[in-house]
Amino acid sequence: MTAEPSPAAARRILLVEDEPSLVLTLTDRLLSEGYQVETAADGEEGLSKALEGSFDLILLDVMLPRRDGFEVCRELRSRGIQVPVVMLTARGQVVDRVVGLKLGADDYVTKPFEMIELLARIEALFRRARTPTSAQAGTYSFGDVRVDFRRAEVFKEGEPVPLSALEFKLLAYFIQNRGALLTRDELLDKVWGYDAMPTTRTVDVHVASLRQKLERNASRPELILTVHRRGYRFAG
Ligand code: CA
Repeated sequence: MTAEPSPAAARRILLVEDEPSLVLTLTDRLLSEGYQVETAADGEEGLSKALEGSFDLILLDVMLPRRDGFEVCRELRSRGIQVPVVMLTARGQVVDRVVGLKLGADDYVTKPFEMIELLARIEALFRRARTPTSAQAGTYSFGDVRVDFRRAEVFKEGEPVPLSALEFKLLAYFIQNRGALLTRDELLDKVWGYDAMPTTRTVDVHVASLRQKLERNASRPELILTVHRRGYRFAG
């Protein structure tokens, strides 16, 4: 008689944490819950593992050697990688939590935490995982365009298309929200972020540039559609 496969069986978690005892405790517990676990002991290693491997979730400590958790999270998001991130913050770092969420973390847990609480947060994130399957696999294709999220590269008819970091981020946001009406304000908020002060005109300029690079005919867009007076809709 074979055991029922655990719902966690295929889930891969990257744990980025520099405190050895916590790494040990967390790894043991996550493994016993049926997750696959990989670990990194500093921000640099965490970032490169996150970029190379395909993980279903990242547990990311804030205070890390080499690169802190905020930097790692920001870098992942700016490359269009939408894997759920749970930040591990120290007690009382209220500002840190706010900053973490603005940088694209999905949740945070304050140290010291009960293991049961962390596991509940992880399961909740998996339940509402919004990452499209194809993006988890690392690429997304539409028309003759292929987007490689891990390498942050775009190809049209097999040829590389040079995109700025912001253009890539904008395209990734369009892909994640394909079919939805996206207002300029939402795009500014989600793509440009809290510390920039661009105008809605900035959005139009970047959309125009993406159209030039990706559309068959930029003056008659078929991928990034204008919704009159309201914003844009990605139809790719
Ligand atoms: Ca730490």
